Amino acid sequence: MATDEKALHIQHANVGIVGAGLAGLIAARQLVATGVSVCVMEARSRVGGRTWSHPAADGTLIDLGGQWIGPTQQRMQRLAAELDAETFKTWDSGNNIQYHAGERLVYSGAIPTADRLVAGDVMEAMLNLNMMAMRMSPDAPWTAPEAAALDAQTFATWLDANISTLGARALLELAIQAVFSAEPRDLSLLHVLFYIRSAGGLMDLIGVTGGAQETRFVMGAQTIANRLAEALGERVILNAPVHTISQDASGARIETDTITLTCDRVIVALPPTLAGRLRYRPALPSLRDQLTQRMPMGTVIKVHCIYPTPFWRDEGLTGQASSDTGAVRVTFDNSPPDGRRGVLLGFIEGDEGRLWGQRSLEERRAAVLECLVRYFGEQAGQPLDYIEQSWAEEEYTRGCYAGYMPPGVWSMYGPALRTPIGRIHWAGTETATVWNGYMEGAVQSGERAAAEILAALGK
Ligand SMILES: Cc1cc2nc3c(=O)[nH]c(=O)nc-3n(C[C@H](O)[C@H](O)[C@H](O)COP(=O)(O)OP(=O)(O)OC[C@H]3O[C@@H](n4cnc5c(N)ncnc54)[C@H](O)[C@@H]3O)c2cc1C
Repeated sequence: MATDEKALHIQHANVGIVGAGLAGLIAARQLVATGVSVCVMEARSRVGGRTWSHPAADGTLIDLGGQWIGPTQQRMQRLAAELDAETFKTWDSGNNIQYHAGERLVYSGAIPTADRLVAGDVMEAMLNLNMMAMRMSPDAPWTAPEAAALDAQTFATWLDANISTLGARALLELAIQAVFSAEPRDLSLLHVLFYIRSAGGLMDLIGVTGGAQETRFVMGAQTIANRLAEALGERVILNAPVHTISQDASGARIETDTITLTCDRVIVALPPTLAGRLRYRPALPSLRDQLTQRMPMGTVIKVHCIYPTPFWRDEGLTGQASSDTGAVRVTFDNSPPDGRRGVLLGFIEGDEGRLWGQRSLEERRAAVLECLVRYFGEQAGQPLDYIEQSWAEEEYTRGCYAGYMPPGVWSMYGPALRTPIGRIHWAGTETATVWNGYMEGAVQSGERAAAEILAALGK
């Protein structure tokens, strides 16, 4: 198991890895398997980074961070099987709720179809976005046809020009907030298309059955990181926030306040904005440094309400609601696999997250419950427990679900995202070409960074 740094006196490893999220741990595992020595330095007192599974007071297991995997996320599925991390399907039986323009509608299927004009507008937009996305290479979005023009506009600008009904606009805005935890005006259109491409399609991103929200882990998603770290043992050092990385012709050095690790190669497995807060000697080339100044994290507060039973199931509801108003605009049924408790999961995303993050816990709780009562009735106002996790408050994450590209970043700084700088290699889900922003992407990025190092070492 991972060890407290004070008990260790590590001086050298072939490869030093900064960050024990999925990306860093997978890179470490791959390198160790080929006989390369590694040391993983983790700032927190736990591994898993943006995955964090924690029991509530009544023992119900809660995923405070990443939780779902989907059918095309094969790396995560393989890991789950290999590490014996049991999974189960998200509850997805029944009807969904849409709260729009002050009205509560019950509908079935992925998209509300009560208003045919709106449904048609949404379908057409999704088709167009998928078609544009499939024309690009996820390895190099800046080479896409008309990349400069796509990267010169926000997703909001694209909505202005392409969506004619207010209802469709509201639904597409919500989809963007739910996927990026940012607003349509924050995001480059090219980035949205890249993200769709990296996931395989828009429905793959937003779908439950058949999509990214299909499957959960019985013991929580952090199980994967915990088991990877267990196997790495004392190679993982906790409570070791790295502040400086130096390199010269003879090697590299990674420094925390209490440890100096010398190594031949370094993997920085952090979101770019956190990578940019480390000190580098010599300083990074300006393109790389300025990239890290331009990739903000999204804003999300993940909230769980625990009830004696999943009462909405008795009313034939999935527990999925979408809304054009309120702090929580997207909900899911996050009950344990045996349904012994009912858990409603809500996300406070984008601008709502920015605004509600400044209010007190009591105010947020009241605002969340007001939303849940609107969607699921009075019973939703009386949870046994209320649990929230604000990721923008986390020193070693600073926002979620991932870092994103505002306009102009992909086309000017994209090539600096993965290109190694001397002995330093970059991992983390933000560098992935498959399921960027997701656990699957983190794993792919760790594999890629390890492969780069093995190639550099001639292995
Ligand atoms: C609320 C929420 C919901 C999500 N939902 C899903 C989902 O359902 N499905 C899905 O696939 N993905 C989801 N994600 C995204 C997913 O969790 C991430 O994509 C993935 O975990 C990122 O892994 P990573 O290794 O790239 O980065 P991280 O997990 O961020 O790992 C980076 C590590 O570096 C450490 N670190 C930071 N600074 C330093 C430093 N200076 N020195 C040393 N260590 C440092 C951090 O503590 C962390 O452990 C969600 C994320 C959140 C927060």
